[in-house]
Amino acid sequence: MTATTPNWLELEQKYDSGVYNKHQVVMVKGKNATVWDSEGNEYIDCVGGYGVANIGHCNEDVVEAIKQQAETLLVMPQTLPNDKRAEFLEELVSVLPEGMNRIFLCSTGTEAMEAAKKFAITATNGRTKFIAMKRGFSGRTLGALAFTWEPKYREPFKGVMDQNVEFITYGDIEALKAAIDENTAAVIMEPVQGEGGVRPGAVEFIQAARQLTKEKGALLILDEIQTGFCRTGKMFACEHSGVVPDGMTLAKAMAGGVPIGAFAMNAEVADRMPKGGHGTTFGGNPLAMAAGVAAIRFMKKNQLWKQAEEKGNYFMQKLREIGSPKIREVRGLGLMIGVELKEKSAPYITALEHEHHVLTLQATPLVVRFLPPLTISYEQIDQAVAAFKTVLETVEG
Ligand SMILES: *Cc1c(COP(=O)(O)O)cnc(C)c1O
Repeated sequence: MTATTPNWLELEQKYDSGVYNKHQVVMVKGKNATVWDSEGNEYIDCVGGYGVANIGHCNEDVVEAIKQQAETLLVMPQTLPNDKRAEFLEELVSVLPEGMNRIFLCSTGTEAMEAAKKFAITATNGRTKFIAMKRGFSGRTLGALAFTWEPKYREPFKGVMDQNVEFITYGDIEALKAAIDENTAAVIMEPVQGEGGVRPGAVEFIQAARQLTKEKGALLILDEIQTGFCRTGKMFACEHSGVVPDGMTLAKAMAGGVPIGAFAMNAEVADRMPKGGHGTTFGGNPLAMAAGVAAIRFMKKNQLWKQAEEKGNYFMQKLREIGSPKIREVRGLGLMIGVELKEKSAPYITALEHEHHVLTLQATPLVVRFLPPLTISYEQIDQAVAAFKTVLETVEG
């Protein structure tokens, strides 16, 4: 760094709220699955913006769409129809499961969960009980936090949290049967738990949830915020079980990196919400809509789900071939991959970044999570696996 360059790291740390555990590096540029820091070092990015960068960093189609839209119209509230919004809604519905054709637009995943919660209440005539999953993650705003299991996220705020959320063991059909009743508005789950350690849900469990919610007049809401948009080898993870939910929360990769969120639902759910019952200023803004159109078209044009499936299988195979005694399990679906160690994963994640310039993230204290852009090259996968093998051999846990 030259004397005239501001110390970005120091500035950011000085003024940030302090809630984030910041790495000692300043990231300045990205392309596909590669990112660069302010010193010009190159990294293989298996963090992928926490699962946002599915179509690669600075995807050319999205960049072009943003440039054009930025010169045309940036903001238009949802009471005033907009050409890009109409185009986006049609594009999104074209990839959603049959019957999910009504969309509430917002700007983040947690907001999509908030919408899901309100729509579930109105769709069930004011039922108030929700069933969520142990190890589940649904976001950090208070309404969504009520569905997020991790006690350390919930504890400080428990005094103002919904008490009417029952957490059951993910995969336990009997527990779900016992929990669901005439006051249940919705059952909420991720098709593959992400934050909770990368745990694919059993097909029979998701199908049973579909059946049981139907019987009790409750909604099944699938949180596809991380699993959606090709991540797991299908456009949406629910396709693995053939289950069509009543509502689906979407965000992360939907607009190629621009903030966006949505609650997708069927007409029965949508029609029960009164006019003015919900709303948001930034939802459906033309910039996000233009980016979203380009992102979804890129996924379709390149059959990105296939790439995720093939590269994911290859990646997991290579990780299993490492055969380290420190590895308890390699699991995942598509390019949503977790390696559970028999010891804390943090030292290995740090060594991967510092010594090999491979960025990965944690999911529970024991798991190393890989969420690369789905456009990652096989060569980069090989490099990431070789680096992981080396740190498993050299780092003391
Ligand atoms: C990231 C995530 C959220 C929250 O999304 P934000 O955009 O961070 O608010 C909710 N659910 C799941 C499964 C996620 O992965």
